[in-house]
Amino acid sequence: MVQAIRIHEYGGPEVLRYEEVEVGAPGPGEVRLRHSAIGLNYIDVYVRTGLYPQPSLPFVPGMEGAGTVVAVGDGVEDLAEGDRVAYAGPIGAYAEERLIAADRLVKLPDEIGDETAAAMMLQGMTARYLLRKTYNVGPETTLLFHAAAGGVGLIACQWARALGATVIGTVGSAEKAELARAHGAAHTINYREEDFVTRVKEITGGEGVDVVYDSVGKDTFPGSLDCLKPLGLWVSFGQSSGTIAPFDIGILAQKGSLFATRPTLFTYIAKRADLLETARDLFEVVGAGKVRINVNQRYPLHEAAQAHRDLEARRTTGSTILTV
Ligand code: NDP
Repeated sequence: MVQAIRIHEYGGPEVLRYEEVEVGAPGPGEVRLRHSAIGLNYIDVYVRTGLYPQPSLPFVPGMEGAGTVVAVGDGVEDLAEGDRVAYAGPIGAYAEERLIAADRLVKLPDEIGDETAAAMMLQGMTARYLLRKTYNVGPETTLLFHAAAGGVGLIACQWARALGATVIGTVGSAEKAELARAHGAAHTINYREEDFVTRVKEITGGEGVDVVYDSVGKDTFPGSLDCLKPLGLWVSFGQSSGTIAPFDIGILAQKGSLFATRPTLFTYIAKRADLLETARDLFEVVGAGKVRINVNQRYPLHEAAQAHRDLEARRTTGSTILTV
């Protein structure tokens, strides 16, 4: 038996119950993994509330972790006991140990520590696909990134700057503005105090940006569309403030023949080759010091509920891990 957090019914942070679970031996194609650190992500909140329902209850939440392989199932060729690995998905991370499909694991290079890995696999691979695949960000790009001081935000600001882009970041406080600027945002807007559409227009001389990365959702819609140049791209990749109500697609025509996409990391890393390429790119920018991973909050696993409260109350910056 190992200690884990389980969800028996959807709801607030109080539904995260710390209890013993049976892990068992790995089946064919699986390994048993002992976590040394677990990543906290906003998707964990959507899962906990039931916005992203799971096939059955109870279940162990959590999409990200790093640790050591302790047992290997039949047919697993390229992993052995003692290997240091990390992953983003599938669900089941909030536990001291878990079973996981071997083909979802990535071996960690020596220079990437377990805590850094647990803090960056999901948010860092997200930043990578958003900036390199969903849109090809380069020196000519001006982009708006909402929640720029958050987990995905701080990584994306640094990576976008490394690609030569001009980054405008929205943030919820003066301290977060400073943090975002220190991580590559050329301009910041406190969208709790200023109208971000007006400010983006001012900063871009009335032109607007090429691409908006919007994970805030309800509170930044439809303003995000008004920040775009004609033919610009709206990337709606989350809803930290609540889901966007259904809308008439004609709004994209009215606001300048805009493009829109609602991507998820799990499509971009579904094929193993894409997972490996995405992780390799992430390890490279982190290894080269172009992107620093900020583990700004740590909680023991049994305090996962408090970690959720702080994340939802906008009290965190950068990445957060649960320690075991
Ligand atoms: P963050 O660390 O960015 O935390 C969320 C941040 O959103 C807060 O810190 C806050 O920053 C901002 N925010 C704005 N309004 C609210 C609100 N009403 N309630 C709570 N937070 C608010 O989280 P992550 O880095 O884990 O994830 C960022 C977003 O990206 C999430 O929406 C997540 O679901 C999404 N995501 C999507 C993926 C995909 O592939 N589609 C993959 C990974 C993440 P501030 O105070 O500065 O406004």
